[in-house]
Parts: sequence; structure tokens; C-alpha cells
Amino acid sequence: MFIPGKFKGGKALVIGAGKSGVACANLLASKGFEVLLTEEKKADAVKDKLKGLAHSVRVETGGHGKGVFDRGFAVKSPGLSQSNPLIAALKKKKIPVFSEIETALAFSPGKLLAVTGTNGKTTTAVLLGKIMSAALRPGGRALLCGNVGIPAAAAAPKARPRDAVVMEVSSYQLEDSSYIKPYAACVLNITPDHLDHHGGMAAYVKAKEKIFRFQDASGCCVFNYEDARCRRLAKLCPSKALFFSSQRAGGKLSAWTAGGKLFFRAGKAAVSLAPPLLPGAHNLENAMCAGLMALHCGVKPAVLRKVFAAFKGVEHRIEPAGTVRRVSFVNDSKATNVDSTLVALKALGRGRNLWLILGGLDKGNPYAPLLPLIRRHVKAVLTIGAAAPRIEKELAGACPLITSGTMENACRSILGMAAPGDTALFSPACASFDQFRDFEDRGRRFKAFVKKLRPSTLNPLP
Ligand code: ADP
Repeated sequence: MFIPGKFKGGKALVIGAGKSGVACANLLASKGFEVLLTEEKKADAVKDKLKGLAHSVRVETGGHGKGVFDRGFAVKSPGLSQSNPLIAALKKKKIPVFSEIETALAFSPGKLLAVTGTNGKTTTAVLLGKIMSAALRPGGRALLCGNVGIPAAAAAPKARPRDAVVMEVSSYQLEDSSYIKPYAACVLNITPDHLDHHGGMAAYVKAKEKIFRFQDASGCCVFNYEDARCRRLAKLCPSKALFFSSQRAGGKLSAWTAGGKLFFRAGKAAVSLAPPLLPGAHNLENAMCAGLMALHCGVKPAVLRKVFAAFKGVEHRIEPAGTVRRVSFVNDSKATNVDSTLVALKALGRGRNLWLILGGLDKGNPYAPLLPLIRRHVKAVLTIGAAAPRIEKELAGACPLITSGTMENACRSILGMAAPGDTALFSPACASFDQFRDFEDRGRRFKAFVKKLRPSTLNPLP
């Protein structure tokens, strides 16, 4: 456990000059530590990241010098593997290595609400942040941070005791943490992911377990009842385990769905609320999860009602991108794996109404799990990017396959063939790095292109 006083005025090492490493170095410098930020990449590769670094932080790039061992403790960036030689060497010399999130939390008196799971973390954390903001106003605030793109070290230490710190926590960050104690936590779901990094499924699940391991009876952890791994994990939970389900009602569940409403158990009775207007059962699950965590913090159902009604979802997640000639374009660029694309097909499939754009950088997982929903809902798959040949081979025979090369070509082809009422779904099931900077760049370019597809610039409908 990171106890700052123990290292007071001491020397700190921060490993990795990414966004969270820089934020952490700044935090420690502001608390009086003498900080060395060490980075194996060359100065040129990280110079943009270093622009916001405090002047008092010493930087070494292009490798690690002997000075790294002359430090009271180290903080590791989440991207680095535990088997990184520097981490191993520090541990051998008994120099404690902390995670960025536990370092940030050591300086944060706010109430921690921590969200983890394989899919749905960002959506749930953003929604929970909005609920807590509305509930705590005007005296308190909710600070959203973590994997959502705002480093914990930049946000959590700004919290006052009456504020909430809403943190999206990845398995990488959990694996690195020796101690975190959320007042409310959740494990949304667990499916195989990042297994290369963790070295297998058992280690991945073990990392997720850390979200609740140090809680006590005052806390809660919310689990998805329909996920067998979540149910098994809940048995180990020392705090109050709460379950939600999108497939069954009542019983020992704390939240469920029925007749298009969300039900939350409040004492003996249940309150019913209209869910956010977002497609798919997965979004009902995210709303139930955020709702249960907020209710545990004493938030009134009326606040949930108001925030659910206003919630529009998060950019790049089954996001409406515009309608051209009555064909709806949907940006699901965050679907960087087959599981996410499956979720989008389930959410948007109505009969045979979809034109699906797939492709990008292949991640090595099979595309065959998409076959049943493609057969049911997809008029044609349009392939782009490096993964196209593999996708076409694995999906052969399920529906027409159109090699399109680029997202722009695919959109134009769809408009030439689609019927009014159809949906063009950009849910690539692949990483983006072959043609785009990242999934955000990919999604923004898709939206910008759709905007330009004004009906006046197109040929008349056949
Ligand atoms: P994460 O931060 O865990 O990657 P996001 O909220 O960014 O999750 O959603 C990413 C994708 O995961 C979405 O586009 C959707 O396909 C899928 N997803 C979202 N919520 C869930 C859920 N509760 N269960 C399963 N899949 C989900």
C-alpha cells in the first residue's frame, strides 16, 4: 500500500512517459518528491507528451540509467508488462513498485467508485459520473478519471472529502495495484481479453478480483448475474454483492428489466425507471450497474430518472452518425474486437436491415462467431483494411462480401445499394492502426465523411 508519508521528501521514479506517467510525475513533484521520469523510447518519440511536464521533474529517455535504483519507490505505467526487465530489477532490489492509480488515490480523500469489466466500462463510468455530479451538486463534485482518458493522477487528487472519484479501471491497472478500496465497485462482465498481456485467463480474472478484494462490509460490488465468471467472482467478495440481470427478474437480483423499464430494489419495494434511450440490452446492463452503484451511495431514484433521460451515450459506441437518403449511418468505431461487433449486431439487427463495414488491423481472433447474426441481419459485408482477405475467407457464403479497401468506398457502395430504412453499421471488429491513428480518429473520420455525403452530391436513386 502506498503511504506517502513513509517516503516523505524522498526520491521517486516514474516509469513510462505516457499520459498517466507524466501526470503522475507532476503529482509527485507537486507533493515535494524529487522525481525521475524514465522512458525507454527516444526523446523524439515522446516529446509531445513531455510538453506538460513540471520543470522540476528530471527526464531520461532512450533507456534507463543506474539512477533508477537510487529511489525510494517507483510508479509503473499500465502499458508495461510486469515482466519488463526494469520492473523485475527494481523488485529484486526490494524497491516498491506502485500503480499510477494507487499513487493517485493515496493523495485523494474523495469517495472512490470504481468500474471494471471486459466491455462497457467507459459507458458505465461516464453515466455514473453524470449521476454523481447531479446528485452531489452544489456542494460536491464527481471527478471522472482512469481508463476514460483522464489520468487518475491528474484528477483524483483534486477531490475533497465530499467529492466522488469515478474511476474506470482496466485489468492492467488492477494487476499493478496492491491495494485499492472502492466504496462502490462493479465487474460488468468477463470475457477473454488481453490474455497476451496477463499470460492467461486465470491471471486476467485474478486482476479483476482486485477491484473488491480490500473492500469491507460498508462497500458494495455490483455483478452481472448472467455472467458465470462474475457469479463465481462474487462468492469471493467481502463487501455487499449486488446483482443485475437483463434476462430475468426479481429473486435475489437488485436490478432487472421488464416491460421496457429498469427495476431497482429499494428496501422491500422496487422502483421502476425508464432506461436511457440507447440501443441494446448491453446499455440496459450498463445503466443498471451505474444505478446500483449510485443508489449504494445514497443517490435518490429521482436523480437517476433525470440523468437516464438525458444520457446520449458515449462517442464511437453505436453512435448515430447521420442519415443520408433515409439510410442511417452508425459509428461503432470502438468495436475493435469481434465481441463488440456482436453486441452492435444484436442491438441494431431488425430483420435483414444492416450493411456491415468490417476490417482494419487483424487481432488474430476468429470472425466466425459473427456468422449467425450476419446470416440473420446483414445484407452485405463490406471489407476494408489489412484484415479484409481473412475476414472474407472466414465469412464466405454467409452474405455478399464486397472488397472496398477504404471506409469511404464502403460508404459510397452502401448508398448505391441500400433501401430506405436500412442501416450502415461501421463496427470494424479490428484495430484501427493500419489506416487510422486510433479508433477515435477512425470514428471521427467516418462521421466527417458521412456528413459530406449530402444527397445533392450523389447520383439519383436507381
Ligand atoms: P470499454 O470501456 O470496457 O471498452 P465501452 O463503454 O467503451 O467499454 O464500450 C465498448 C464496446 O463494448 C461497445 O461499443 C459495445 O459494443 C460493448 N459493450 C458496451 N457495454 C457492454 C456490456 N454491458 N456488455 C457487453 N458489451 C458491451
